[in-house]
Amino acid sequence: MSISGLQVITILNKIANVIEENKSYLCELDAAIGDGDHGINMNKGFIAVREKLRDNNGNDIGEILKKTGMALVSNVGGASGPLYGTAFMKAAIDANGKANIDVEDFIKILEAALGGVVMRGKAERGEKTMIDAIAPAIDAMKEAHKSGLMPIEVLKASKDAALKGVEYTKTIIATKGRASYLGKRSIGHQDAGATSSYLILNTIYEEVKGIKEGLV
Ligand code: ADP
Ligand code: MG
Repeated sequence: MSISGLQVITILNKIANVIEENKSYLCELDAAIGDGDHGINMNKGFIAVREKLRDNNGNDIGEILKKTGMALVSNVGGASGPLYGTAFMKAAIDANGKANIDVEDFIKILEAALGGVVMRGKAERGEKTMIDAIAPAIDAMKEAHKSGLMPIEVLKASKDAALKGVEYTKTIIATKGRASYLGKRSIGHQDAGATSSYLILNTIYEEVKGIKEGLV
């Protein structure tokens, strides 16, 4: 199955709603080991994304992702703005000129997005950041795709692995971002950015499932 540009915009709008619904939750997580603004930052960014895509005709998924990235970079004050913004802008290069994407495209897009986060933030796995949700999600997708699972199952594998990654962040010390100032005291707390990455991947799964079932 493939997803059209207009469906990508629908998914991004839904992500904006989910971020808004989870604004306080993301701020609470960030308050425990950071400065408590992650939900506010992400919400502000995705409100701008929604606005920027309002009149988009959906013809070019690369352009949609580029606009998304630019809206995030220019409207989010915290570290997450440039990080997610770069992720979407790198993803855009891969999707350039495409009117539809399939699951293989999505794996490549997500890999490019992770490359953007790593390039920007210089973090690796195990440093208690969004990378701990995104990187295992990509691995799980590749594995699920290789073993011949249906595209929707591949997306399910990505969000399940991301959630495991979120749980994993509770067990490790933050060595990047504001939470790293706490050192060992960051153990036991869940990373806010990993959680927003999970929410994004879960929303993609839920929406694609809805599209497939004819609900969206
Ligand atoms: P700030 O830390 O500037 O207040 P946010 O609160 O919006 O920004 O975002 C914090 C999140 O950003 C963290 O929970 C973490 O997941 C992510 N993060 C911080 N630094 C990095 C980095 N170098 N690489 C990847 N992700 C990072
Ligand atoms: Mg913060």
